[in-house]
Amino acid sequence: MGVHVGEHVISLDMKEDGASLNFVSHAHSDHTGGVKKGNAILCSSITRDLIEARIKFRLNLAEKPKSVELISSGHMLGSSQLYVEMEDGTSLVYTGDYQMQRSPAAEKIEVRSADILIMDSTYPFPNVTFEEKEEVMTSIQHYISKKRGTGSVLFGAYSMGKAQELIRICNDIGISPIVDSSIEKISRIYSRHGVELDFRPSAVEERIDRDYFEADAWIVSMGRLDKVRRMVSESGRRIFTAVATGFARSRRFSTDVQFAMSDHADFRQAIEYLEICNPKQIYTRGSESAVFAKNLRSFGYNAMELRPDIGLNRFIETYA
Ligand SMILES: [Zn+2]
Repeated sequence: MGVHVGEHVISLDMKEDGASLNFVSHAHSDHTGGVKKGNAILCSSITRDLIEARIKFRLNLAEKPKSVELISSGHMLGSSQLYVEMEDGTSLVYTGDYQMQRSPAAEKIEVRSADILIMDSTYPFPNVTFEEKEEVMTSIQHYISKKRGTGSVLFGAYSMGKAQELIRICNDIGISPIVDSSIEKISRIYSRHGVELDFRPSAVEERIDRDYFEADAWIVSMGRLDKVRRMVSESGRRIFTAVATGFARSRRFSTDVQFAMSDHADFRQAIEYLEICNPKQIYTRGSESAVFAKNLRSFGYNAMELRPDIGLNRFIETYA
């Protein structure tokens, strides 16, 4: 399922035999299948730094073919869409994970018009919609401020992307949250690339400094939430657990509160994207691609599921 560009076959966020270039849209691990020692990688320099923080070798960053551009997808820092202009003038965009709303810790998305669009389908249902991000951020700030006098708010979060958004949300109300070491490592890379983040690191996996028990907010990796909750409450401090994720729309978490704050586009944002991009043909991609394509068709769009057996040669033929 690669994109044929001149003599190149570019894989899209996955391992693919025969790919000469591997496009990696962003550093989340479900998109880094093409990352292997020696593989030629197409990604932003920020994505490279974030990936290298988690692997033991240097990425082999390839030179971009002339017809290829990486443009922001707004999903997390460094996340990119692949934009290709074919020799015959046909243009193609692959979105990867994207959102139309502005993240407090990432670049704004750029949407271009294109003939062919390969679109992520994480939230395929018209009835699943997210509130304005600004509003959710304000609710989070309000919650932390309310609890400030009585205890600490402890967030469990993905250490890359969501954790840095939460740090910014805390910083905007004058709070410097405590973070665990994996969030610290990623946040330092964010800071190096221009995202101002004020936090206090703590190796919570070992022990917690006594001074930190009075902190107003904590942000730790999901897997450490229960352990830190136990450690802080044993000190006698009240603790309120929280998550901020798009899945809070459809799932009940075992935390005291959950905020539906997503870094993905919902169906409404997908339509907003399509109005600007105005593609002649849409291919949907991801675990919900079939239902997403069906729902787009019912809204009058020319959409079909992108299946692994459709190579771009056929893909262009289908389009032409
Ligand atoms: Zn992602």
